Amino acid sequence: MSDAPSRPTTPDTETPPTDTTADASSSHATRPASADRSDRIPSGSVAFGDLTRAAYCPRQLYYARQEPDRSIPDAQRSRIDLAFRYPDSVAASDADLVDRTIDVRPTVYRDRLRTLRDGGLRDRFGIPWRSLAIPDRTRAFLVGRSCHGIAHKVLSGTDADDPPIPTFASPGTPPDQGVWEPQTVRAVAIAKALAWEEEREIHRALVEYPAVGVVREVTLSVRTKAAYRRALRTTRGIDGPPSRVSDDRCQPCEYRDQCGTETRSLRSRLGL
Ligand code: SF4
Repeated sequence: MSDAPSRPTTPDTETPPTDTTADASSSHATRPASADRSDRIPSGSVAFGDLTRAAYCPRQLYYARQEPDRSIPDAQRSRIDLAFRYPDSVAASDADLVDRTIDVRPTVYRDRLRTLRDGGLRDRFGIPWRSLAIPDRTRAFLVGRSCHGIAHKVLSGTDADDPPIPTFASPGTPPDQGVWEPQTVRAVAIAKALAWEEEREIHRALVEYPAVGVVREVTLSVRTKAAYRRALRTTRGIDGPPSRVSDDRCQPCEYRDQCGTETRSLRSRLGL
């Protein structure tokens, strides 16, 4: 088992095949027409990962954009990969599970997955276990009108006419209730991109926390869509280092030293 932050420190920035964020407006965007969607990202489209970071801290996004390599670390990738091992994990022995990057005891992990399998997923979200465990599409590169990136899964609904449900897998752990705000923004972005592709309304997305065997839902409400639009505006508007947030988001931030937040707070505590 491995340690995990209680907040999404690095906001799950799995880099899509072409993580481009062009500068111009997307108002004249046209729908992607071929399978090679990475070549068809509309002008002004924003990567899911950038939206996530902007919702966490705009300054963090500013630093992340300076990085030459923005692929996610192997440790996070292995935790995300657990979302593709549910059929195996639900039957795995303690000895097998303890070698995986899970954040709870093997018995707890297996029980949670079994609860989801044995009706929990259907009762809570109306989704059959098979859809989550053996998804129709995996690591789907979605291109919407305003945003693009990877949905780890696209699930089919219970009935053929049901809209598909996109998911993304977080390498972190969830809050007690719901979903962290930056991940809410990402979930809305993924649902909007899939809606653009499918030419139909997508009202929700799922967030998987495969390191702890938890699944949460994000619905596209007035509040969550407003949070998404704010993050989109913020992402597009960054042209220099934004202000520091200087709160509890800074402690787990990978740019803390570069940002100087800790130094500032220490100096202020010492009255310097
Ligand atoms: S240390 Fe705080 S202010 Fe600086 S980039 Fe990180 S979260 Fe933002």
